[in-house]
Amino acid sequence: MRPLIAGNWKMNMTKTAGTALARDLGLRYAEQAERDYDLLVCPPATIIDAVGQALAGSGVFVGGQDCHAAQDGAYTGEVAAGMLADLGCTHVIVGHSERRQYHGELDLLIGEKAKAAYKAGLIAIICIGETEAERDAGDALAVCSRQIAGSVPNTATPENTVIAYEPVWAIGTGRTPTTGDVAEVHAHIRAELSRHMAGADAVRLLYGGSVKPGNASQLLAVPNVDGALVGGASLSADDFWAIAQSCV
Ligand code: PEP
Repeated sequence: MRPLIAGNWKMNMTKTAGTALARDLGLRYAEQAERDYDLLVCPPATIIDAVGQALAGSGVFVGGQDCHAAQDGAYTGEVAAGMLADLGCTHVIVGHSERRQYHGELDLLIGEKAKAAYKAGLIAIICIGETEAERDAGDALAVCSRQIAGSVPNTATPENTVIAYEPVWAIGTGRTPTTGDVAEVHAHIRAELSRHMAGADAVRLLYGGSVKPGNASQLLAVPNVDGALVGGASLSADDFWAIAQSCV
């Protein structure tokens, strides 16, 4: 499967810094002979337009970090999926653990956001993953099953959906699960998806959580890992690029 390396910039980057980073990545990607992987950056909404322009013609995709479930309306401060598409976005992250944690987002809403993404022609990157307490309790697989059942719409296809497994305790902590644990969860996610949709074998499953240049090759070599969702390390062109090179 063609891997996807996605960078989630979160609430970081000014327009100047973000466009410089994008130009740097765009040049490297455009000049690379072997591009057997997709590269995506998800900047804050304020600079999506500028970053998209900086990446024009490079082949690097631009995405949003979240979207509202409604198409439009009186939702102050929110961004609709159609607005992201209007700026040239191809993807949108939904259900990131920081949205679940700080905004109280639940599976059902995340599923509605994914449907809004589909309606706008965007690929939804649906994030799932257990907390540390859930892992310690032996519930990691059950949590992923529940989140898939609740947040992956029945209209999901391999073309409109990517699943990102992001154990909450590994995000921004420098800790990662063992490759054996990642293999177990990704195999489980694949099996669970196949109960909910056709073509589950072709859905890209990303691993996310403290992916760095030093561990990317190992994590990306795990069966059923079809790419990475990268937070902190995506803010450095050198680090993000080094991670992407693990796919070459
Ligand atoms: C993330 O927040 O999606 C993430 C994976 O962050 P980090 O790479 O910094 O752990």
